[in-house]
Amino acid sequence: MTCEVCDKKSITKNLCKKHFIENFEKNVEDQLIFNKQNKILIGISGGLSSTVLAHVLKKLDYNITCAFVENNNSEKQKKIVSDFCSKMKIQLFTIVDQTKNIEKALIKFCENKKFDHIATGQLIKDGKHNKLYAELNKLQYAD
Ligand SMILES: [Zn+2]
Repeated sequence: MTCEVCDKKSITKNLCKKHFIENFEKNVEDQLIFNKQNKILIGISGGLSSTVLAHVLKKLDYNITCAFVENNNSEKQKKIVSDFCSKMKIQLFTIVDQTKNIEKALIKFCENKKFDHIATGQLIKDGKHNKLYAELNKLQYAD
């Protein structure tokens, strides 16, 4: 199979790696409710969707900062997030949450630090995009 945009070998049904990534990023961007002038806080868990979201928004040059909400069992996730953010040169805050309510902790932090919006992986998460996340993750981090 060849890519429907160029003539390179396709890695999905109809797109090569370059056009698949372009198409994925456009899909993400189409669903955003903020722009590049806004200060965006990303609630990052170390899981696939929030990590890919941060990756894409950074690559598209959005004004992003990550916040990781720490709880008792999160040492491994914390390391994943901190390695990712230093690799991507994204500022990272760690929020120590006593209430066990991640959403509330993020909203409070967002208000205190005067961010315009909070973005989480769930913003763009549905059946279709979960698959895209998995494919993009493999592509981006495998090589
Ligand atoms: Zn192509």
